[in-house]
Amino acid sequence: MDIIPVPAFSDNYIWLVHDAESGETAVVDPGDAAPVLVELDRRGWRLNQIWNTHWHPDHTGGNLQLKDATGARISGPDSSRIPGRDIALTEGSEVCIGRHVGRVIEVPGHTLDHVALIFEKDGVAFVGDTLFAMGCGRLFEGTPEQMHSSLQRLAALPDATRLFCAHEYTLANAEFAAHAEPSNDEIASRLIQVKAMRDRDEITLPTTVAQERETNPFVRAKDVPTFARLRTEKDSFR
Ligand SMILES: [Zn+2]
Repeated sequence: MDIIPVPAFSDNYIWLVHDAESGETAVVDPGDAAPVLVELDRRGWRLNQIWNTHWHPDHTGGNLQLKDATGARISGPDSSRIPGRDIALTEGSEVCIGRHVGRVIEVPGHTLDHVALIFEKDGVAFVGDTLFAMGCGRLFEGTPEQMHSSLQRLAALPDATRLFCAHEYTLANAEFAAHAEPSNDEIASRLIQVKAMRDRDEITLPTTVAQERETNPFVRAKDVPTFARLRTEKDSFR
């Protein structure tokens, strides 16, 4: 399974997923169709499926144009706000590309009907705007309890699981993490590393479950009140 980032807007990543064996291609959270069509054309891939993690327009804005252009089927959470959705994804649903099977888990918090796709055998998870490298999504619809529990579910995946998040927020998150846990050496050294990567215009994703357990203050929050306090503080940080 090849996973290719397609940058969109100012800081979104749309993930293209290609299975060479079957020749199938899927796209995760296409907020914009144009850069996806360019990348498909460049690689000679034909789009079969669109997977949405949640309804926000920067994750679904390209759905209809891509469906029109390619005939791809659209799978997404149970929301009337997913344009062109063909297949509803709820807890325990599966998405498949070739022989790769992704299990759907519900991770409410950023929105109420946010899902993550877990390809256990591949050690891959698409987590949308729930977990970011060293951070987490804002609580637009859900409660701190919901988001805390969603993050704990993702953090319980095997250490080596690669987490594909939908935004390049790592540097701002790292700065907040260093403020939240000033004596955490792993956070301090990851901040330096992330700064250098961004100076070179490099992508800082995917991250891993192990890295997030060590350096993500929202994952490390020991209880819901601690998580809620951190989330509120981050909303107005700098
Ligand atoms: Zn969002």
